[in-house]
Amino acid sequence: MKQCIFCKIAGGEIPSATLYEDEDFRVILDLGPASKGHALVLPKYHAANLYELPDEIAAKVFPLIKRIGGRLARAMGSDGLNVVQNNGEAAGQTVFHFHVHLIPRYQGDQVGIAWEPGSLSEEQKEQILKNYAKEEE
Ligand code: AMP
Ligand code: ZN
Repeated sequence: MKQCIFCKIAGGEIPSATLYEDEDFRVILDLGPASKGHALVLPKYHAANLYELPDEIAAKVFPLIKRIGGRLARAMGSDGLNVVQNNGEAAGQTVFHFHVHLIPRYQGDQVGIAWEPGSLSEEQKEQILKNYAKEEE
């Protein structure tokens, strides 16, 4: 994708603060960090979101975030780590090239990754299970 900023960063066309690189991925520091050490895992392959990610690349994502996430948390001396991945504008995605956020967390920090728990009614539960089962068919 010629105009995609993350393609350019992942491919090295635009310089970035790179923590890690291999033939399929580049891991960079986020320029608008939610916390100290906030990093982004970028595949070099352009997929707009999770649904478009080829299985071959997707299969490499978790082993990579496990490794880099652990290293990053240790390097930062963080107390926790959020792994966040947004798909679609409604979910907060702003750059339409699949990426995973690694967000180190520190006891008492004010990073806003939280929600008010709702409730699941019997009716909703049945409806959701039915709709999902239809998609599986
Ligand atoms: P999302 O909202 O999940 O699409 O995340 C996009 C992330 O990319 C945000 O956290 C931005 O701060 C970050 N970002 C946008 N442009 C750049 C850039 N050129 N270099 C590093 N991070 C960026
Ligand atoms: Zn791209």
